[in-house]
Amino acid sequence: MKIDLRSDTVTIPTPAMLNAIYNAKVGDDVYKEDPSVNALEDYVANLFGKKSALYFPTGSMANQAAIKLHTNPGEQLICDKWGHVYNYEGGGVSFNSGVSCKLVDGSRGKITADLAEKAINPPDFYHSPKTSLVCVENTTNKGGGACYELDELKAIHQVCKQHGLGYHLDGARIANAIIAKKQDPKEFGKLFDTITICLSKGLGAPMGTVLVGDEAIMQNAMRVRKVLGGGMRQVGFMAAAGLFALQNQFERLEEDHKKANELGEMLASLNFVEKVESVETNIVIFYLDEKVDAEKFMHKLDELGIRISDMGEGKMRMVTHLDYTEIMHDFMLENFRKAYID
Ligand SMILES: *Cc1c(COP(=O)(O)O)cnc(C)c1O
Repeated sequence: MKIDLRSDTVTIPTPAMLNAIYNAKVGDDVYKEDPSVNALEDYVANLFGKKSALYFPTGSMANQAAIKLHTNPGEQLICDKWGHVYNYEGGGVSFNSGVSCKLVDGSRGKITADLAEKAINPPDFYHSPKTSLVCVENTTNKGGGACYELDELKAIHQVCKQHGLGYHLDGARIANAIIAKKQDPKEFGKLFDTITICLSKGLGAPMGTVLVGDEAIMQNAMRVRKVLGGGMRQVGFMAAAGLFALQNQFERLEEDHKKANELGEMLASLNFVEKVESVETNIVIFYLDEKVDAEKFMHKLDELGIRISDMGEGKMRMVTHLDYTEIMHDFMLENFRKAYID
């Protein structure tokens, strides 16, 4: 048995999803003539109560497009020091938009209204870059799947409104947050100017992210996507997989969260684990005790058929997902402790 907990991006389409792909009606999406893409975009716009949505091949491209729509070259955005847009999008913020990032020292990848406000450059002090956008991540990736309280997001929204800043949500795993905190997606729609939601993470589609926003900001989104090389033709096959995921694999995220929580408890009971971050969704971050040689540990896991992510300096990550079955879970709870021998 092979157990892959490196990420929730490793899932393979189920037979039912393959069926949805096989039966998808398609057309040329660059002409906006793909009925499956149009249906997906309508569905996601409605989900968040926004006017407009656009399908992208990846979450990075959708975030990058959003940043481009909110900013002009030379300006600055505010995000947490662990932000995906800053750390894991290949420097796209500067490459694509000519924008710099003002990093905020948040907690588990989350910022606060107070930190955001303090990071805004004085608008009439022309020596510093003009602040034009705040990006938050929910759930946080590097922060181990932590979720925001809606009240904090509202407070940040107030700061953005007061200072005339755009407000973007990198919602790669917003579905996990919505399930974990029993929130209404429309609440997020009310607060944010733009939101991305990844279909290829916990939701389990092979690819795709949808960017939503109101008409004014989204007017230029098709052009920006084209510039980034993201105009696709009969991509309805993949959009159909995305729509299937939203309609059939959203509620079940609860199971991933339950398993992640149980993995967290199991890890906390092991004498070679120094600390486990509190598990809020489907990501489990833990730290190995000093006595453990991480390389040997990973090797031993490999022999057990288990793959997880080594994030360096003893920090390890597991992510539960659709293809992580009950049988695998039982095996993990039973055998993971064998990865370290005194
Ligand atoms: C995965 C992820 C993205 C998008 O990544 P792609 O691999 O480009 O789809 C964006 N933000 C966060 C927080 C993510 O975890």
